Amino acid sequence: MELWYSEKHTEDVKFSIKVNNHLFTGQSDFQRVDVFESDEFGKFLTLDGLMMVTEKDEFIYHDMICHVPMATNPNIKNVLVIGGGDGGTVRELTRYPSIEKIHMVEIDKMVVDVSREFLPITSSKLDDTRVTLFYEDGIEFVKNKPNTYDLILVDSTDPIGPGEGLFTREFYRNCFEALTEEGILVNQNESPYYEGDAREMIRASQKVKEIFPIAKVYQFHMPTYPSGHWLFGFASKKYDPIKDFNPSKWEEFGLKTKYYNTDIHVGSFMLPTYVKEMIESG
Ligand code: SAM
Repeated sequence: MELWYSEKHTEDVKFSIKVNNHLFTGQSDFQRVDVFESDEFGKFLTLDGLMMVTEKDEFIYHDMICHVPMATNPNIKNVLVIGGGDGGTVRELTRYPSIEKIHMVEIDKMVVDVSREFLPITSSKLDDTRVTLFYEDGIEFVKNKPNTYDLILVDSTDPIGPGEGLFTREFYRNCFEALTEEGILVNQNESPYYEGDAREMIRASQKVKEIFPIAKVYQFHMPTYPSGHWLFGFASKKYDPIKDFNPSKWEEFGLKTKYYNTDIHVGSFMLPTYVKEMIESG
């Protein structure tokens, strides 16, 4: 009998992957955690039945959350990752010898444990000596840490369950305070395509815009997320991701990347008309 993983992307749309094995299922204090294995996407992790990471397309998300801010300000030294329990974001950050300290605050230890067991592809650098893991709520963690981080990456779940508070004005305000004067925030910004996701995307980008002098949105192609069209928010006190972007400076790091390159960096901020209009009209 065939086994399929199926996820509702809207009331009328489902996305399905044929799976060979259901490798893990567990209920943590925060969410249901599952790992499946498939021919097309390799192993993949879901939380409360929503796709988080697959072996095949994780490089796209992790390249784009990490290299866009790092190429905008190559002098970043202290980084905070909020969420990101699969470890893929930390893995990309550890490729920069210039980064001195990486704090990762993940609310759910089960996600990290399961990723270490089943997804070494993403979790392989969680033991880097520069990395400190905190099993705490990122919403609380970021409070009262003025002028501490050069970069905050919000690698969160959707705005439901434990991730809900990571999409609030108060949280973005606390991130602003926790950043140094050179600071950059990159946050999960959902998809512009389906109405429900687009509403969250507009709300998140409006709130960030009220707090940060520079606030933009950039896009990438994520095959296993609803509609395949996904956005990150980029916000900063000082750096514009296009005007202050110096491709040759980033190229000096000599990193080989599979999705990110210096053309994509610029192109990802060029948004389709309907997305621009949504963001402008709020
Ligand atoms: N790339 C993924 C995506 O967009 O679907 C996100 C992956 S990562 C596994 C998301 C993590 O955020 C989860 O492990 C979840 O436990 C964590 N998370 C959710 N809310 C959180 C909070 N308030 N504080 C810290 N971590 C949180």
